[in-house]
Amino acid sequence: MLADQSYEYIVIGTGPGGAPVALELAKAGKKVLIIEKGAYHRRMIGFPFGARLSERFFVFNRSREGVVMERGITVGGSSMIYQGNVFDPSKKIIGAMGVDFRPEAAEIKKAIGVKSLPERFYQNGPGSGFLRMREAAEKMGTPFTAQDKFVDTDRCEHGCDWCMLGCPKDAKWTTRRYIDEAVGKYGAVLLVSTAVKKLVFNRERNRVEGVELRNGTVVRGGSVILAAGGIGSPGILLRSGVGYVGKRFFMDPMTILFGISRYKDGGQWKEQTFSHAIESYAESDGFMIGNSGAWGTWCVMNMVRPKVMLENWYKGPMVKRGMGLFIKLAEDDLGEIYPNERTSKPMSANDIMRMKRGVDVAREIMVRGGAKEKSISALKWAGGHPGGTIEMGRYVDREFRTEFANLYVCDASVFPVSPGAPPSLSIMAMSRLLSKFILGTVRPESRFIGKVGGKAV
Ligand SMILES: Cc1cc2nc3c(=O)[nH]c(=O)nc-3n(C[C@H](O)[C@H](O)[C@H](O)COP(=O)(O)OP(=O)(O)OC[C@H]3O[C@@H](n4cnc5c(N)ncnc54)[C@H](O)[C@@H]3O)c2cc1C
Repeated sequence: MLADQSYEYIVIGTGPGGAPVALELAKAGKKVLIIEKGAYHRRMIGFPFGARLSERFFVFNRSREGVVMERGITVGGSSMIYQGNVFDPSKKIIGAMGVDFRPEAAEIKKAIGVKSLPERFYQNGPGSGFLRMREAAEKMGTPFTAQDKFVDTDRCEHGCDWCMLGCPKDAKWTTRRYIDEAVGKYGAVLLVSTAVKKLVFNRERNRVEGVELRNGTVVRGGSVILAAGGIGSPGILLRSGVGYVGKRFFMDPMTILFGISRYKDGGQWKEQTFSHAIESYAESDGFMIGNSGAWGTWCVMNMVRPKVMLENWYKGPMVKRGMGLFIKLAEDDLGEIYPNERTSKPMSANDIMRMKRGVDVAREIMVRGGAKEKSISALKWAGGHPGGTIEMGRYVDREFRTEFANLYVCDASVFPVSPGAPPSLSIMAMSRLLSKFILGTVRPESRFIGKVGGKAV
């Protein structure tokens, strides 16, 4: 039946890249089909079963080199497992892309209602680990700043901290809400647990005609918006015979540190991860440092690498005194995606050097904040911001169009450089702007700034 249907727009993916454009097109009365590889997980979200929202339970999804790659395969995409931190589009990313989507970012923030967390989420007592670290960082001249969140703090359960396994209280805003609205209110059709295998092209007319699903069904549509994420979108293009994408891959790898406080009341027990961050190294060294709650950090240290597990399992009885920080690096784009969506992600000497610098700073903050120096161990190279694989300026123009007139790409893959900070708001803003370009409510030239990636497109 589906093969006979003809949709005006087929949107592939329901994360920050796909959901806003799908909603706005449906709202404007367009006939929209949304195709999502993941299921609509409703139950057993949060700790411990929420890991199934991530590809290969997140710990088993690794690059050839062993780097852990996290991505959500579920309705709502990786926003279902994100931490909910909100960063405005940076000058760096707007400059590199040459198109201004900051007005859309402001509209989205206003509509969702973004704010930082009240103190109870990171202050469990006068001596709590994070407050000591915050004081130490201040004295070192690298202060923590409170982070804005896509979290409704009235609904959020204090002490839960399982945002990254799906929010059990639905307090975290995710792009699933846009999909629900597009389907429930505006009549978009959603196919779940349905993976797109490849695109169907008419090469003579230089157009895409539809998509082929993994079960062989072909669905036709007027235009296709590819928003399957930094790994999924190049995977689909590569399987479709568009062989030049998928190179230059980045994913903002992290190192996570966990230690034990000297003080009985010094742990980050029941504290929210990433309530605060040190952003002062972003320009100079390309990393940021964030705080990480005790229980979740200890669990992660015991799940991913045997060596790190051995350094941490015995700390279980002391976990309430646990202290955590992470260092997130905007690394060089030396990676590749293959047609089967496996990845290669080598780190450059420059990445290793900058990460070491970040780890040294974070260790010093932990020790000054009360951590026993010998108790600190590090889990290296895990990340969840895949992008850069269908770069704007090379494969996609500033209207998100590809060489095929009716094929758009709009997700993290179009970033020409790593934003170096949580990118969801920027991706959602791009997607909302794309809907305006398509609907003709904004003239594309009115948003162009300079040249994309230094090249006129
Ligand atoms: C643990 C973690 C924490 C994070 N924390 C933050 C944070 O605090 N703040 C922030 O801004 N960002 C955060 N991020 C990053 C953010 O979630 C991603 O950058 C963002 O979701 C990427 O959006 P996207 O649309 O490019 O891809 P995705 O969100 O990954 O969406 C792609 C969608 O396409 C679907 N798909 C893939 N292949 C196919 C196919 N063949 N057919 C059909 N559908 C397909 C996927 O299932 C998925 O639903 C975090 C990420 C992780 C993993």
